[in-house]
Amino acid sequence: MSALSHEPLSILEPFRGRNDTRRNLVGLSRDALKTTLAEAGLEAFRAKQVWQWIYWHGVTDFGLMTNVAKKTRDRLGELFVIERPQIVTEQRSVDGTRKWLLRFPDGNEAETVNIPEEDRGSVCISSQVGCTLTCSFCHTGTQPLVRNLLPAEIVGQFMVARDSYGEWPTPTETTRMLSNIVMMGMGEPLYNFDNVAAALKIVMDEQGIALSRRRITLSTSGVVPMIPKVGEVLDVNLAVSLHAVNDDIRNTLVPINRKWPIAELLAACADYPGARNSRRITFEYAMLKGVNDSDADARELVRILKPIHAKVNLIPFNPWPGAPYECSSNNRMHRFAEIVNDGGLSAPIRTPRGRDIHAACGQLKSASERQKGERVRDIEARARV
Ligand code: SAH
Ligand code: SF4
Repeated sequence: MSALSHEPLSILEPFRGRNDTRRNLVGLSRDALKTTLAEAGLEAFRAKQVWQWIYWHGVTDFGLMTNVAKKTRDRLGELFVIERPQIVTEQRSVDGTRKWLLRFPDGNEAETVNIPEEDRGSVCISSQVGCTLTCSFCHTGTQPLVRNLLPAEIVGQFMVARDSYGEWPTPTETTRMLSNIVMMGMGEPLYNFDNVAAALKIVMDEQGIALSRRRITLSTSGVVPMIPKVGEVLDVNLAVSLHAVNDDIRNTLVPINRKWPIAELLAACADYPGARNSRRITFEYAMLKGVNDSDADARELVRILKPIHAKVNLIPFNPWPGAPYECSSNNRMHRFAEIVNDGGLSAPIRTPRGRDIHAACGQLKSASERQKGERVRDIEARARV
């Protein structure tokens, strides 16, 4: 493992001077960009060029926008910035996984991971600093929600990853190293849906980052009322953190199950607009020794997923300090997978990636803590559907 530490940053230090009131253009929708430029007295038709410079070419300096008049570039630079989250540390695993600890303008931090494979790379993006939910096997769940991330901070994570791999301008779909996005980092994306949707729309825009919706997967712990909206608004791939086949066990592993139990969750999945044979919903299942890994659990998994166009990802439990679980044995995981496969469901056992740098599923956490409370309670209240 190697850690490439950047300049040490003191906690909660905003990264632009307090008197710098320039607005960040990253994270604005195309329409908002047009309006923002128009309000600044700049020709709105410039928005298309500026958009392409930001998201296709990846520039952060208005001076490089060569098809924009010098006078306009100067004015843009006076009023606006093109800003990424700051990299606090970049760590590289022995298996090639990279993890960035990123700092946002208010000093809060979250983690982003890239998991390279032979022919692709999946960038795992965070949607919140911390999480309101408290899944008992997840390290992020031990960090109370600090705040929702903004569209600029969500799309900015992918832009940082592209900077790190030098992947600008946007390559063709077949030559990309960073070819997929999984909304599987810190936080519950469906408790921050508006910002996640705004960010993913920017990511999917063909004149910019141009990532197809087929290459984006959103994972939810089971915020049932929001699931149809994911299909309507984004139509990306859906992953569901199931982890148990009956409500008693799921209540303890994924406490949101008390609000929306398995039957309701599966009904929402069966109706997911994008679900069909060619595009199955992924059910994530962390293998926890003696908790959810029996033969009977495997058979029940097959039975309950039968009505759904489903596939299963068996995730060996990733340990973290103080975790109250152990990973199932290899033999147990293989037997479990065999039963599920024999039942007609694809159920690969995922190879853990980036464990040495704590970058694997459920290991992400940042040191950001709640500031004295009231704003957090507001966010939590709004987050609850
Ligand atoms: N909040 C969302 C997305 C982030 S978690 C969700 O819960 O779906 C990404 C995946 O990792 C989820 O399926 C989560 O349940 C799983 N996970 C969490 N902790 C884990 C751990 N310690 N080992 C293995 N998988 C874990
Ligand atoms: Fe939050 Fe997902 Fe972790 Fe549960 S598994 S605590 S929803 S990040």
